[in-house]
Amino acid sequence: MKSNIVLLGPPGSGKGTQGERLGSELGYTRLSTGDMLREAVRNGTPLGIKAKGYMDSGGLVPNDLIIGLMKEKISEVSGGVILDGFPRTVEQADALAKEVDVDLAINLDVEDAELVQRLTNRRSCPKCNAVYHLISNPPADEGVCDKCGSRLYQRDDDKAATVQNRLRVYRENTFPLIAYYEKKGKLATIMGEGTIDEIFAKVKEAVQ
Ligand code: AMP
Repeated sequence: MKSNIVLLGPPGSGKGTQGERLGSELGYTRLSTGDMLREAVRNGTPLGIKAKGYMDSGGLVPNDLIIGLMKEKISEVSGGVILDGFPRTVEQADALAKEVDVDLAINLDVEDAELVQRLTNRRSCPKCNAVYHLISNPPADEGVCDKCGSRLYQRDDDKAATVQNRLRVYRENTFPLIAYYEKKGKLATIMGEGTIDEIFAKVKEAVQ
């Protein structure tokens, strides 16, 4: 089984959902820079204070803030790791290559119209980071997290006005990483449309 896996793909492509499944079913540790940053914002840490403006506008947090954080978290993990939302720039990918061997980059491919639909209907748990979709994957009790009972919320950057900017930022900064990992012979592109189970079956096949 591949040990260090990067999840690529635009916002809303299912990186969090599939990363979580890889964690719970195959024992990987999932590290999500987005979750870490949101927690830092909620706790008002120096990192959170610096990162908030970039996140609210759908832009990227500067490399110097995120690379150090990620290096520290990776060094704490023993065993296989799933990186969700990192790297997002070539500079981050180069920094990552100095820390660990990336065995596989999974690119979840989803049409733009579907991404917009998924992101604007997404609701998230502020406590355990579980995600739901109002139509295709609603919680059992409206507005309440199935896993931990917390009240769900809509991320500011999942509102329609910011979503378009996030997709543009993805195309400009992160899309080149598909070619980056392809050149290294590490890329698996998976069609990220269909049910969560159908997509996970393909993801599992790629990691084994
Ligand atoms: P995500 O939860 O992965 O969609 O990330 C939410 C936001 O956090 C992004 O829109 C960025 O502002 C910021 N962010 C997350 N990961 C990174 C990263 N690797 N580099 C820069 N900014 C990031």
